[in-house]
Amino acid sequence: MTSAQRYKAGAIVLAVLLFVLCAPQALQSADQAPQFDGANALAVATYLAGDIGDRAAGTSGEEAAVAWLAEQFADLGYEVELQPFQIVRNAVPYTATNVIATKPGIAGYDTITVGAHLDTVLRTPDGLFGGPGANDNASGTAIMLESARLLSTESVSTTVKFIAFSAEEIGLTGSFYYVTHMRPIDRVRAMGMINIDCAGLGDVLGLHVFREQDLAFAEGLGIDADVISRAEFMFSDHIPFAVYGVPGVLVNHRPATGHACGPDYHKPEDTPDKLEQSALARAGAAVVTGIYALSEQAQPYTVHWMHFPSVGRNFDN
Ligand SMILES: [Zn+2]
Repeated sequence: MTSAQRYKAGAIVLAVLLFVLCAPQALQSADQAPQFDGANALAVATYLAGDIGDRAAGTSGEEAAVAWLAEQFADLGYEVELQPFQIVRNAVPYTATNVIATKPGIAGYDTITVGAHLDTVLRTPDGLFGGPGANDNASGTAIMLESARLLSTESVSTTVKFIAFSAEEIGLTGSFYYVTHMRPIDRVRAMGMINIDCAGLGDVLGLHVFREQDLAFAEGLGIDADVISRAEFMFSDHIPFAVYGVPGVLVNHRPATGHACGPDYHKPEDTPDKLEQSALARAGAAVVTGIYALSEQAQPYTVHWMHFPSVGRNFDN
């Protein structure tokens, strides 16, 4: 072999190596999205509301739900972070905890957040108010966990964060805490938030946004919903995201009449036996569709600290 031949052979080996290393990961598209399993979601919601039961922020029930969810996410291969924060009830401080599970995407792509609140309303001594929160919101938590299970073996371009928020029932405290403690780079890279709340009853699939400009975001998810609306007074964890400039949407599945969380809203009668698998399946499929739509819409771009000198150099790409 002459030195020219050796040079040529070396260049070919290098080119092949570069091709293999730099070829984009094979990404699944929305039509390859895995089938959402309503029976799995129903089993999770039944465990949360039936076995663990009441999960009011700062109580042992919330602690049990946090520990169990963290373990489920870890078993699925997610990076899990617990985010404790303080709440005050009747002048007594308690610790509540958000559970954050991350599936890293390709460098340079944005982050999608899928959230649901894990806490319930504290039961009153007279037993008339509060309870196990099967529809509000074991249903949303279960849909989030089942979506995480489906996505754990898939590849999408975006980083996906699944977050079980605590203290939603105390003025969206957990999600406000999360949003106000995001690193600058995470705020820059936040593409959108899909929040699931009260999604286990009825026949009406709704997508609701807090800000007018988020209607386009909701419509762009490609979800075949019955209603897409601006609903300023449907309070849930998408609102802090919207308030801080991240497009957010509430996925809700409800009976055609009455309260969006059903007739047993915030009552001891909100029990898992009343959940409807068909509602969980449809809302869950909508969430998976939304994740894939956002992942397909995402474009890679470079964020350089020089673009945003005011937020510091601490960028991870
Ligand atoms: Zn709720």
